[in-house]
Amino acid sequence: MSVLVYIESENGKFKKASYESASYAKGVADQLGTSVTAITINADDHESLSKYGVNKVLQVKNDQLSKFNADAYADVISQAAKSEDAKVVVLGQTANDKYVAPIIAVNLEAGYASNVVALPESFSPFTVKRNAFTNKAFNFTSINSEIKVLGIAKNAYGLKENETTATIEEFSPSLEASDFSVHVASVDKATDKVTIADAEIVVSAGRGLKGPENWDMIENLATTLGAATACSKPVSDMGWRPHGEHVGQTGKPVAANLYIAIGISGAIQHLAGINASKYKVVINNDPEAPFFKAADYGIVGDAFEIVPQLNEKLKEF
Ligand code: FAD
Repeated sequence: MSVLVYIESENGKFKKASYESASYAKGVADQLGTSVTAITINADDHESLSKYGVNKVLQVKNDQLSKFNADAYADVISQAAKSEDAKVVVLGQTANDKYVAPIIAVNLEAGYASNVVALPESFSPFTVKRNAFTNKAFNFTSINSEIKVLGIAKNAYGLKENETTATIEEFSPSLEASDFSVHVASVDKATDKVTIADAEIVVSAGRGLKGPENWDMIENLATTLGAATACSKPVSDMGWRPHGEHVGQTGKPVAANLYIAIGISGAIQHLAGINASKYKVVINNDPEAPFFKAADYGIVGDAFEIVPQLNEKLKEF
């Protein structure tokens, strides 16, 4: 019996969210008195997993899996779970994780809980704490099936270092034609810019910037910080910025380490999308702006003065 964690990779490199999943899997394995097995698909950087308590890595190398395909990936992970007799299967909450997790649950006749934020409250019944209502509340979910599939919310459990020596084994799943019945087309990203979903830091701006011509300072700050750029809904509605940058209830969710909101009032629909971010910094010239109540750090002042100064200062580091 073991705890299985799926380690997602992009271009052979593991995603940070997967290290969080590994940390979480180690926490569950310790509670159960068992070990952690990780499954990776067409990735290499396996030594790094030892840092987060992984005892064994099942390494899948298969050209048929060079592109993400939910059915095929779910089948591979399910087969690994069966071969390891895993009672708990842990994934992150990336778009791909959210796609494969329910399929794995069906394959394994397991219950699935998404958005898990803490180690299980109890094992009998198996109960986990989860984010609910766009991270404004928690709920407790019990899973009665023998096998449990858990999606770990980004930035909730965090990274916990736990040095181990992971053994690495080749794992050769048997793939069927039905695994590839859905053809997945992939489109290369148009730019090298960090995407909102993957970003550790997001620099976001709102209507307070007055017009699209003023976004250079936002881009410059984002470049200095290696951050993604984002915006509020009206900004993308007015065509100042592309729709792909709109974050919030009706836009993209952001679970960054640092979210910098510039000239954004902090409407509830905006906050709903960024609540999962760890630190929120607000720059707004109105001290009564609601965003200050949700912020960890705030600067009251004119963005047109503060942002360039902040950028110059940050460049010194
Ligand atoms: P404003 O509310 O106009 O705020 C601009 C801010 O900039 C103000 O706080 C002002 O003090 C500040 N400011 C002005 N000048 C400066 C300056 N020189 N320096 C610093 N600060 C300055 N919104 C979203 O963002 N995402 C969503 O997903 C979303 N979904 C919605 C869904 C529904 C059903 C509805 C009804 C609304 C939704 N909205 C969403 C809209 C939301 O209610 C707000 O209207 C919107 O977030 C406001 O955008 P804003 O903060 O950029 O603009």
